[in-house]
Amino acid sequence: MAEVTRLLPPDAAGLAEAARLLAAGRLVAFPTETVYGLGGDATCAAAVASIYAAKGRPAKNPLIVHVADPAAARRFARFDALAERLADAFWPGPLTLVLPLREDAGLAPAVTAGLPGVALRVPDHPVAQALLAAFGGPLAAPSANPSGRVSPTTPAHVMAGLAGRIAAVIDAGPCPVGVESTIVGLSGGAARLLRPGGLPVEAIEACLGQPLLAAAEDQDRPEAPGRLASHYAPDAPVRLNAADPRPGEVWIGFGPACSGAALSLSASGDLAEAAAGLFDILRRADALAGPGGRIAVAPIPGHGLGRAINDRLARAAAPRPR
Ligand code: AMP
Ligand code: MG
Repeated sequence: MAEVTRLLPPDAAGLAEAARLLAAGRLVAFPTETVYGLGGDATCAAAVASIYAAKGRPAKNPLIVHVADPAAARRFARFDALAERLADAFWPGPLTLVLPLREDAGLAPAVTAGLPGVALRVPDHPVAQALLAAFGGPLAAPSANPSGRVSPTTPAHVMAGLAGRIAAVIDAGPCPVGVESTIVGLSGGAARLLRPGGLPVEAIEACLGQPLLAAAEDQDRPEAPGRLASHYAPDAPVRLNAADPRPGEVWIGFGPACSGAALSLSASGDLAEAAAGLFDILRRADALAGPGGRIAVAPIPGHGLGRAINDRLARAAAPRPR
């Protein structure tokens, strides 16, 4: 049912109203350092069901639970030594840990989509922190966009995809990191990279003193559902590693060699700048390409944040189910 989606300011009154809406089981999009999240009360089955409905998200794709601090996270999951070390080093920040769910966690079952683990994150954005404090509980929050489409890094992106489907958006400008959190799965003493993201893999491996293992990619039961195939998709088809544009393509450049590009992820070749602007530039390229148009993207280095950028671009370029 259509509703009027309100823009709330990130001040005390706006946050109190957002917390009131969340306590009533409504959905509020809020900024994090990675992307805008679509928040709902993680303990309320109806709120969690409406997250899936608003996004058109498949029921088997579980949600990340956002909490205020590591102590809150420990109430929902069992932490082993590796989990403690990573939480200590990187929370608050763009790292999600998938850990064994406690039997008495009290989260709505749909949050974990029937998996044995729960995904937990402590966001490092002052407005996300203030909202978690005002609400006083765990917030299930996937990216605030229709399922499968480009993630939102501004309030306008959220409105373009979800206006009329959610109660409110807290307007706090663009997200500084710009790509989703890195997801690490910890079970049985092993650490697996389930999704590259805003925290570089190199930093995690240095902290652990060991390489991260790859995620199991079993099509029937992937270790991290929702990672597969087409995602982050603009309307226009996307061609990767394009050193030059072909006729009819909107070329997205990276670095000084691409001075002729219509748009640039970073003219100087800075990966943090490229990550911060990635989803906005994909949206702008889509608008420039127009109906029947195509997008080409210059090669991006694979280290540091480049790993997350290339992961998102590969999914944006993947064959579409539509
Ligand atoms: P999004 O909220 O769109 O950033 O995506 C969250 C992703 O986190 C999902 O698509 C899964 O890959 C992963 N995830 C969330 N919860 C779990 C879980 N309980 N077990 C394994 N992976 C999870
Ligand atoms: Mg998402």
